[in-house]
Amino acid sequence: MLTAFDNSPALVLNADFRPLSYFPLSVWNWQDAIKAVVAERVNVISEYEIEVHSPTCSLRLPSVISLKEYIAPARRPAFTRFNVFLRDRLVCQYCGDAFPAHDLTFDHVVPRSQGGVTSWENVVAACGPCNLAKGGRTPRQAHMPLHREPMEPSTWELQENGRAFPPNFLHESWRDYLYWDTELET
Ligand SMILES: [Zn+2]
Repeated sequence: MLTAFDNSPALVLNADFRPLSYFPLSVWNWQDAIKAVVAERVNVISEYEIEVHSPTCSLRLPSVISLKEYIAPARRPAFTRFNVFLRDRLVCQYCGDAFPAHDLTFDHVVPRSQGGVTSWENVVAACGPCNLAKGGRTPRQAHMPLHREPMEPSTWELQENGRAFPPNFLHESWRDYLYWDTELET
């Protein structure tokens, strides 16, 4: 059973007050958050009403914390399945529909059987049916044009794409740091 404590994760911000990661959103469970507070590795920006008690003190659970030391994001994002899906915004690059990550597959644009390599430029997100329909053919051979030409994304692009996916849990104290409401953007 979930307790109020389990429902009280802390949003983790970098030292510049941006989330360490948007998608998946950087959150820590309350135990890790409290440990970091006690170790003075983070600043508490906002708190929940709930308190934890030890024999000597009581602490309110942090809802938003920021790292004291800035962590520079990797300049070039790792080439992973997840990052390919994130670059493609979880949209099948053939039919253009959006899918949950577990319904997407990793498609070689130029199939490996035709000399295609596994790289940012030759791998896209594809839904199962499109991947099957395309088979061992190029988009031209299959008459299935690509939604967008695949390229290596920047870390910033991936972060921006991640902002399009709100988390399941969103405490009101997080809103100022997430800007899910695109109308706020200039
Ligand atoms: Zn598709």
